[in-house]
Amino acid sequence: MKNKEEFAKNLIDFIDKSPSSFHATKNVEDRLINSGFKKINLQDRWELKKEGKYYITKNKSAIIGFVVGNEKIEEEGFKIVGAHTDAPTFKIKPNPEITVEDKYLKLNTEVYGGPIMSTWYDRPLSIAGRISLKTENPLKPKEVLIDMERPLLIIPNLAIHMNRSVNDGVKINPQTETLPLLANINDKFEKEDFLVKLIGEKLEIEVEDILDFELFLYGVEKGTLVGLNEEFISIGKLDDLAMIHAGLNGLIDSEVGKATNILVCFDNEEVGSGTKQGAASPMLRTVLERITLAMNKDKEDYYRALSNSFIISADQAHALHPNYTDKQDPTNRPIINAGPAIKFAANQAYTTDSYSAAVYEGICKSIDIPVQKFANRSDARGGSTIGPISSSQIDIASVDIGNPILGMHSIRELGGVEDHFNVYKSFKEFYRI
Ligand SMILES: [Zn+2]
Repeated sequence: MKNKEEFAKNLIDFIDKSPSSFHATKNVEDRLINSGFKKINLQDRWELKKEGKYYITKNKSAIIGFVVGNEKIEEEGFKIVGAHTDAPTFKIKPNPEITVEDKYLKLNTEVYGGPIMSTWYDRPLSIAGRISLKTENPLKPKEVLIDMERPLLIIPNLAIHMNRSVNDGVKINPQTETLPLLANINDKFEKEDFLVKLIGEKLEIEVEDILDFELFLYGVEKGTLVGLNEEFISIGKLDDLAMIHAGLNGLIDSEVGKATNILVCFDNEEVGSGTKQGAASPMLRTVLERITLAMNKDKEDYYRALSNSFIISADQAHALHPNYTDKQDPTNRPIINAGPAIKFAANQAYTTDSYSAAVYEGICKSIDIPVQKFANRSDARGGSTIGPISSSQIDIASVDIGNPILGMHSIRELGGVEDHFNVYKSFKEFYRI
């Protein structure tokens, strides 16, 4: 990608086409295939070559792409960029149809992760995710991705006349107040399996073949550049699809290096990472070990490789908010478009230490990219990310970084065009050196 505007528009396109973690994974996979990466299966015996490009997927919602280095793996180790495919949303429950006074049909949902729920009101929404279909073998249902694409649902606000204190802050009950409206009910209406029938129609399959689903809501409004000089990016899921996009392009655009370069896209960060495809699972550790063994090295070589490795845990950071300046730490105040931020926390909610911060800072400085520092206010709890969780599975030197954004976990977040291009350049350089 030649320039920052083109790169930002490419990001918007990538996110617009990734309405669920399954779709994000599929889009990463397609880009890897188009760039000459070869799929390897977890159930097969691996035979890898130096300078070979490969990827694996897990649960169709996590993916690891890698380029085997051209030097000894035990001496050069792994260079890893990690990010996550999921984002806060609402998940549709089983048997979701609820009728209201026989006039409206709405769907029963539950919260996935920590969305700013008020931002989901009054927006055209659709449904995307995965469907499991019946096959000859009950142990191996077929999985199909689905994106309903069109605006199907809406969570209507309550009029201010019925809620006079709405602008004084409102507590939102996720069971009773955020269920999306799907339809008016007419005489011929059949509530039974309404959603499954809708899915059957869309996929042109028999309803009887649909065994189960994993479906999420998403906003159908497209992302856009915004600001006097189009310097900002307004779109949902910048956390963390922007880091996946930057890492993916960095991996694809970098030359084969001495080390084995890896992009790991975990799922389920927003719900604690404790799944087989999350950062708290052995997924990454197992893949690194299998890469080593497939290069005809032994376990001792694997441990040596680990001690020569480095991981950049890439998840977004918080920019100074123009209307809430006192919410930021007094001395670490990242600004949008002033460079990626290294994230620090004494409680190690971020993995950064002075050694790993120096490594990332050194990379940025070597290619003339500005770099900022983020820390939470001492009286605020702040968030965490995949870095510390991944470190509990695999002991590699690690830094937590992210671009400063506003409105994290809103249905539309705000990031910077310049920052996105810069973080990509930093990943590309990390993979190159
Ligand atoms: Zn995140």
